[in-house]
Amino acid sequence: MKVTLSGKHPQVIPLVDLRASHASIAADIEAAIKRVIDTSAFIGGAEHQAFQEEFARYCQSPYAVGVGNGTEALWLILRGLGLGPGDEVITTPLTFIATAEAISLCGARVVFCDIEPQTFALDAGQLSVHITDRTRAVVPVHLYGQPADMDGILAVARKHGLKVVEDAAQAHGARYRGKRVGSLADAAAFSFYPGKNLGAYGDGGAVVTADEELATFVRKFCDHGRVAKYEHEFEGTNSRLDGLQAAILRVKLRHLDRWNAQRRQAAGWYRDRLKDCPAVRLPKEMTDRPSIYHLFVIMVENRDQILQALKQEAIQAGVHYPIPLHLQPAYRHLGLKQGMFPYAEGAAQRVLSLPLYPEITEGQVDRVCKVLKKVVAAAPSIAA
Ligand SMILES: *Cc1c(COP(=O)(O)O)cnc(C)c1O
Repeated sequence: MKVTLSGKHPQVIPLVDLRASHASIAADIEAAIKRVIDTSAFIGGAEHQAFQEEFARYCQSPYAVGVGNGTEALWLILRGLGLGPGDEVITTPLTFIATAEAISLCGARVVFCDIEPQTFALDAGQLSVHITDRTRAVVPVHLYGQPADMDGILAVARKHGLKVVEDAAQAHGARYRGKRVGSLADAAAFSFYPGKNLGAYGDGGAVVTADEELATFVRKFCDHGRVAKYEHEFEGTNSRLDGLQAAILRVKLRHLDRWNAQRRQAAGWYRDRLKDCPAVRLPKEMTDRPSIYHLFVIMVENRDQILQALKQEAIQAGVHYPIPLHLQPAYRHLGLKQGMFPYAEGAAQRVLSLPLYPEITEGQVDRVCKVLKKVVAAAPSIAA
């Protein structure tokens, strides 16, 4: 595909721009860091405690426990729910590998179920096909910031006595039928990886739940099974959210709703400019589960060529994810074959994430769309 370059060197439009977010809150972040340093509360402490309370309230759930990262948040929940060898847990093949890793980490077996073609999320309608007498839990992912079909998933899960754990790593603040993610099922895992909608300045994660027993277990397990400084009720691990990250996250949490609204506004600019482009399938938004647009993901044919062509014009698009998990070398041992999850496979070939972050300007979106329209002109149209 030949692209006519504009002649000059255009400004790079990044996929995400963490420096722009920092610039808008730099003074508050520096003050928060100073507070932690001044009190030496690097592990635990007041900021850590306050963040857990504020984040639980934000998620409309009674408990939040800060942990080391999102992967361990999921793993700690599954362990806390008593999952282990011999158990099966159902999840989507179109997600970041951490979702499935957490299942394997607790000793259970990963079972994949295909996605809804419109929203890319786990298809509640196909769940029962994968349920056996070993199935114990389902882990839906609120992919790209849009909640999964929780009522559909919960209905099937409750009928079979399964736990439901939300992977909310991409959906801080999103709502399903008015309720925040994190409050929708037995427990939810959040990641504060820097590029997430609520991102730390390093690794971080949280377990959010209304289950007091689970919250207590996770709180102890992630801190060496500790009940007093040198009294350990059981063997746990070290997976803690540190004081600096907690203080930074407290500052950022206050801006999260505004940032999510800015992402939605930018998504609207994209929709407006791309709606008449037959080669682009826009992300479908369900009215009862509006997205907070962790990513703005379109579908195109010839995706890899289009990605390259955008790159030549200094536009950094991305692909989430190019290989569905059932076809990853890491899951070869499961013996799953191409063709088993056709919607996930079709999405993996066609999805394209366009630049999106709260500070992106309408002019930047405009340029992405102009270039995209030019480079897809030669591409075949895509089914709605
Ligand atoms: C980022 C992410 C995770 C893992 O979070 P980390 O904090 O990087 O361990 C899990 N699931 C999904 C869907 C993610 O996007």
